[in-house]
Amino acid sequence: MIVVSACLAGVECRYNGQAFPVPAIVEMVKRGQAIPICPELLGNLPIPRPSGERRAGRIVSRDGEDVTAEYEYGAKTALSIVKLVNADKVILKSKSPTCGCGQIYDGSFSGNLIPGDGIFVELLKENNIAVYNEDQLDEL
Ligand code: SF4
Repeated sequence: MIVVSACLAGVECRYNGQAFPVPAIVEMVKRGQAIPICPELLGNLPIPRPSGERRAGRIVSRDGEDVTAEYEYGAKTALSIVKLVNADKVILKSKSPTCGCGQIYDGSFSGNLIPGDGIFVELLKENNIAVYNEDQLDEL
């Protein structure tokens, strides 16, 4: 089984209330080959919500609130779903403070990218689960 970021499957769960649908991923879900999850919603964060970025080991929202606890709770809950369905790979939205793999925003809310992983991706890697983003579908 494959788990995917819900926003890539067309669910309007991003901070701005929009989706980021990728047709091949939407089809995987429609065919029952993938399960969509959104760790930030699992952390009880609302739609819409201020965007968040990782900064100095914490996650802060654009309006300055420390939302680390909500993001951590959502990431742990999402990991439990990945384990429950015995997913062997996960396809997640790039650059997100939760789902980003290898590259995330630098915490200044100025659009600068730095090497790093989202908080959910960190947990997945600790559990030896393969993580891809929407630009790596050819590698699957
Ligand atoms: S947490 Fe992940 S699935 Fe949810 S909106 Fe952000 S990138 Fe998409």
